[in-house]
Amino acid sequence: MAIYLTPNNQQQIMSVDYLCWVPYFLSNKIINCLLFLGIKHYDKESGRADKPYTSHISPYLHFGQISPRTVLHEAYFTKKSVPKFLRKLAWRDLSYWLLVLFPDMHVEPVRPAYKSQRWSSDRSHLRAWQKGMTGYPLVDAAMRELWLTGWMCNYSRHVVASFLVAYLHLHWIHGYRWFQDTLVDADVAINAMMWQNGGMSGLDHWNFVMHPVDAAMTCDPYGSYVRKWCPELAGLPDEYIHKPWKCPPSQLRRAGIVLGQNYPHRIVVDLEERREQSLRDVVEVRQKHSEYVDKVSGSDMVSVPDQLLAFTLGCADGDDNDDVIKSNTCQFLLPVITRKEFKYKTLQPNTKDNPYNTVLKGYVSRKRDETIAYMNERHFTASTINEGAQMYERRERTARIMEGLPQMRDPKNKSRRTPTSDPFSIVPPAYFHLAN
Ligand SMILES: Cc1cc2nc3c(=O)[nH]c(=O)nc-3n(C[C@H](O)[C@H](O)[C@H](O)COP(=O)(O)OP(=O)(O)OC[C@H]3O[C@@H](n4cnc5c(N)ncnc54)[C@H](O)[C@@H]3O)c2cc1C
Repeated sequence: MAIYLTPNNQQQIMSVDYLCWVPYFLSNKIINCLLFLGIKHYDKESGRADKPYTSHISPYLHFGQISPRTVLHEAYFTKKSVPKFLRKLAWRDLSYWLLVLFPDMHVEPVRPAYKSQRWSSDRSHLRAWQKGMTGYPLVDAAMRELWLTGWMCNYSRHVVASFLVAYLHLHWIHGYRWFQDTLVDADVAINAMMWQNGGMSGLDHWNFVMHPVDAAMTCDPYGSYVRKWCPELAGLPDEYIHKPWKCPPSQLRRAGIVLGQNYPHRIVVDLEERREQSLRDVVEVRQKHSEYVDKVSGSDMVSVPDQLLAFTLGCADGDDNDDVIKSNTCQFLLPVITRKEFKYKTLQPNTKDNPYNTVLKGYVSRKRDETIAYMNERHFTASTINEGAQMYERRERTARIMEGLPQMRDPKNKSRRTPTSDPFSIVPPAYFHLAN
């Protein structure tokens, strides 16, 4: 997005093709414009790396050029449905609160057990990741965009973070430092919170891992993002743009690509095995430090920071309780959200199956949904057929309920393999008093 000053000092948005951060204050009109453009498609498509479908206000918030209160206020008046956007704004505050509670969050794992996690020390992998030369086009496009513009969208940040941690097994701290060096919105609190979460040692485990190829179905369905930042791949057909190693040699030749020469070979090949190894490393940590695993729920535990403890106990300086806290004689441990696959694998380390596999498949039904939406808009007959199909589905559902049959699974927007009902969602008896 580019913002310019007109001769009479009026700010104007001239283009939404690329992001350009400008070092002056923004008028409410511009904030409104950014929000309107960013929020329009926010609920469904904020994951698009190839479209400007988020607000792009993070650098302005970071440098204090706009206040979050103004953004909040303006967002309420955009007349769009914005709960997801407002939630994101709240996460920003959450990260500052966390940094107050855990001031070493940018260097020390919040979950104490994970300090002993094994990480790879392969510098060549780290360099390839930083330079956008991993051989995975989506990861490379995002890392090159970051280097050239100082920015990438949230979804791409998740993709490259998952790749660094779950597939390259490199310590999240490398990612944190690189982002601090290169992001125009680099923010100690948000950056550390997100990398800790991605690195599995933060207060909130991400319950997903982005696959470096499948994620493209959500964020770059037509390959235009990759074509923009990895122009050497531009000649590839859509089908192979995110996996050039699968492209037949004749098509590669026609596109002018020689793998290993003008575009790198993949630096890691067996993604499934790399992910399995990452899971095994976490299980090892949890088994070694069982004192930080809650016996009832199987969740990881973190020690409650002194400040929070003092606040909860309502004690001021000089209180008896305050002395207990300061003397550090005891630790108060609290169970925190823990990925179900970690719990499962800790209980059954030798099993091969993983019903809680968190690797996202991407937006698999995108093409179908887009075709229906397109036809609905333009084609009266198609929309009538669609209505008929929906009515049929409704009837089928009701009939199944009446006959006591299980419901058919809904393929719409289905992207996870995680089952909906599982033993870990059941509140253990010892925690009933907390749940009610
Ligand atoms: C590994 C990783 C590192 C990140 N590092 C940073 C960072 O250094 N600085 C930074 O501002 N954001 C960071 N984020 C969060 C997020 O990616 C950016 O805030 C967002 O991409 C900025 O674009 P936007 O303004 O269009 O966001 P929008 O989606 O339009 O959101 C509006 C605002 O909400 C806040 N926000 C959005 N997502 C988050 C989030 N996950 N956590 C906290 N606040 C959020 C931001 O202030 C953002 O400007 C990181 C995310 C990841 C996965």
